[in-house]
Amino acid sequence: MRPIFFLLVCLLHAGFAHANDAPAKPTKAAAKEETVIEPPPKDEAKPAKKESKASKAAAAEAARLKEEQAADELAVKIAERIAALKQKEEAAAKANARTAPRYAPPIRRPDSNVGAPAKPKADEKGAEAKSTHSTLHWSYEGESGPLSWGKLNPAYAKCDTGERQSPIDIRDGIKVELDPLNFEYKELPFSVIDNGHTIQVNVADGNFINVSGRTYALVQFHFHKPAEERVNGKGFEMVVHLVHKDADGKIAVVAVLIERGKAQGVIQKVWNNLPLEKNVSVSALSNIDLNNLLPAGRDYFTYIGSLTTPPCSEGVLWLVMKEPIEASPEQLAIFARLYPMNARPLQKPSGRLIKESN
Ligand SMILES: [Zn+2]
Repeated sequence: MRPIFFLLVCLLHAGFAHANDAPAKPTKAAAKEETVIEPPPKDEAKPAKKESKASKAAAAEAARLKEEQAADELAVKIAERIAALKQKEEAAAKANARTAPRYAPPIRRPDSNVGAPAKPKADEKGAEAKSTHSTLHWSYEGESGPLSWGKLNPAYAKCDTGERQSPIDIRDGIKVELDPLNFEYKELPFSVIDNGHTIQVNVADGNFINVSGRTYALVQFHFHKPAEERVNGKGFEMVVHLVHKDADGKIAVVAVLIERGKAQGVIQKVWNNLPLEKNVSVSALSNIDLNNLLPAGRDYFTYIGSLTTPPCSEGVLWLVMKEPIEASPEQLAIFARLYPMNARPLQKPSGRLIKESN
């Protein structure tokens, strides 16, 4: 008989469900829903009137068990879903904790701040506070790489829309008698910081350059691998950028190209003082004399460009030394371990005038 068969199935089913662990009590709402969806089969119950009272009680019991079972199943599903979500959250939190230090801005004179003249300390604090925000993160590859810099933060818009960006392939320069580039560098204390984008050296105040009647004070210097700029299409192993600022906040960057060759004393001194941690400035015990980082020849190329890192501020006077200096393969390898590639791709020259020493 069909009703009896139905009952048996229900009872068996319910019994099976309750033999398993039921971790949570059924919710009233879930039970209600189940009642509405599956009413007892009235039509099929009609021919079995004689056995009515007993079977009615059994049917009610079966329905109740079925409701309980459905609610239990729902509770299991909810518990599983909550556990899965919790796991996902924990994994995300772990990933964040791993990557967070990379996004932290440099503590002092960050590479990306040289474009903002006379930045007050309060702003630096603000930037630090915002460091967890993804828009401040930029890198040299992937989603936050150079092609995306302009979209990462409204303040970086120039990286996309600028018409006088750096670096460029320096070619077709006009050979003229350029004003001499005078270096007034002396031995001074220094500190080294790994700011997450490069190794940067902050030197005590007292170093200057003079060019075209203007005096610029050295702010910091840092390295790129490979060299960002090219000369007539030729690339170089590395480059050091000496970033200067004048009293009006105008920036002049001296680029010294680095070729593979003999060991370089100043570079070795910087490497000797490499910090063990990112974004922690390490003060060296000895002084540094940047005259020893310059090539003997003082001929140079010059053009107007930008910072090569966000915010890609324009109006930067570039002074690229024609004669490269040398660094040993070991010295190049040390930087490559930290930054195998931290060079912005070449930018459009856009008809800019380039002048070079005759
Ligand atoms: Zn640079």
